[in-house]
Amino acid sequence: MARGYNAFEMAQRQFDRCAETLGLDQATRDLLRWPMREHHFSLPIRMDDGHVQVYRGFRVQHNTARGPGKGGIRFHPLETIDTVRALAMWMTWKCAVVNLPLGGSKGGVVCDPHNLSLREQEALCRAWVRQVARDVGPIQDVPAPDVMTNAQHMLWMLDEFETIHGGRYPGFITGKPVGMGGSLGRTEATGYGLVFTLREALRVLDRRPQDTRASVQGFGNVAQFAIELYQQLGGRVICVSCWNQRDQQAWCFRRTDGIDLAQLRAITDRFGEIDKARAEAAGYEVLPGDAWIEQDVDVLMPCALEQAITGENVQRLAPRVSIIAEGANGPTTPEADHVLAERRVFVLPDFLANAGGVTCSYLEQVQSNMNYFWLKSEVLGKLDTMMTRAFLDVHELAVERGLYMRDAAYAIAVARVAQASRDRGWV
Ligand code: GLU
Repeated sequence: MARGYNAFEMAQRQFDRCAETLGLDQATRDLLRWPMREHHFSLPIRMDDGHVQVYRGFRVQHNTARGPGKGGIRFHPLETIDTVRALAMWMTWKCAVVNLPLGGSKGGVVCDPHNLSLREQEALCRAWVRQVARDVGPIQDVPAPDVMTNAQHMLWMLDEFETIHGGRYPGFITGKPVGMGGSLGRTEATGYGLVFTLREALRVLDRRPQDTRASVQGFGNVAQFAIELYQQLGGRVICVSCWNQRDQQAWCFRRTDGIDLAQLRAITDRFGEIDKARAEAAGYEVLPGDAWIEQDVDVLMPCALEQAITGENVQRLAPRVSIIAEGANGPTTPEADHVLAERRVFVLPDFLANAGGVTCSYLEQVQSNMNYFWLKSEVLGKLDTMMTRAFLDVHELAVERGLYMRDAAYAIAVARVAQASRDRGWV
C-alpha cells in the first residue's frame, strides 16, 4: 500500500488532470479534490488472551452529491488515512461512471486478519460500527466488503447497527450472505464485471478471447472470478501471483499451457494464498512475485493492491501486451500511465473495470428494498448490461475525442459529479 508514493496524492493528480481538461471552476476543484468528511477512531479490542489491543479505524466520505456514500471496508496492516482517502475518491468516480445513484466512501482498519481469531474479528467489526453508527446507514453511507473482509464480517456489522438502532436495516450494508439479504452473484461480481469489460474491449479491437493469453496479479476474490469467466470465454491464463504470509513476499505460479483454476483453488486459503509447495508439486514454475508483469501475454490483469505498475517496472512489459484490465483499485501510477498511453496499450481503467462489485451492491440494495430476490442469472444479466453500457460510454468518448481510456472515464465521471454538486447548489 503506502509504498513510496502516496495513494491520495496519486488520486488527486489524476483528478487535477481531469479538472484541467474539463475546465472546472476553482470551487468545484476544491470540493472534489478532498473528502467532504472523515472519521478517524480507535478501536480497543479485548483479545482472546485477555489483553486489550487498540486498533486504528477510518471511514472517509468523499462525496455524496449523487446519492448516499458507498464503498468497502479494508482490513490491512498497511492501511493509512491516505489510502482510504484515495479509495473513497475512486469510489465516487466508480459509482458515477456506471451511473449509479450513489456517492463515494471507503473505510479501513489497520490490522492483519491473518493473526486474528474469528471472535477477535467479530469484536473488531462490531467496534467499527459503534464508532460510526450515527454517520452511516441506508440513506447516508453504505459499507461493503473489500480487501480481507467478507460476507460474515458484513453480517456482524449489520447486526451491531441493527442492535444500536433497534430495527431491521438490511440496506445499511451490502455484500451480506445470500439468505441474509445478500444478492446472488455478489461474490462473482467484481471479477466477472472485469471480464465483461475485457470482452467488450476485445470486441472493439476485433480480437477473439480464445486467441489471447493473460497474466494475473493476485489470487483473491477478484482474480479468481475474473480467471473463471475469462477461461470460459476461451482465454488462457499462464501466470498468477499471490502474497505468501510466511515468506512475507509474493510469488508467481506459471504454467505456459494454462493454469488449472480448480486445482489452484483447491490449494488456496481464504486470503487467496496458494500453497507454494503443493503448487510446485503440481508442476507450476515458481517465480519471484513481480514476474507476472513481464510475461509474454496479450492481457495483464492487476487484481491485487494499488501501485502495482510503476514508472520503473512498466519498462518490463512484453511487447505483446496490448490490454491492461485493472481489477485492483489504483494499480497504475501516473508515470506508468504516461508510458502506457504512449505505447497505445488499451487500458481498462480501475474505476470502470472493477465497478462490477459496487454495481452488484446496488442491485443488492434494490432487492433488499423490494424484499424480493432475483435469480443469479437475472442479477448477472443486469450486471452485464450495466457494465457494457458504461464501457461503451467511455469508449465512445475516447474514440470521439482521441482520449486515453482513463482520461475518458475520468471526464465522464467527474463531469457527472460536478454537475450534481452544481445542481444541488453546493458550488
Ligand atoms: N469494495 C468494492 C470496490 O472497491 C465494492 C464496494 C461496494 O460494493 O460498495 O469497488
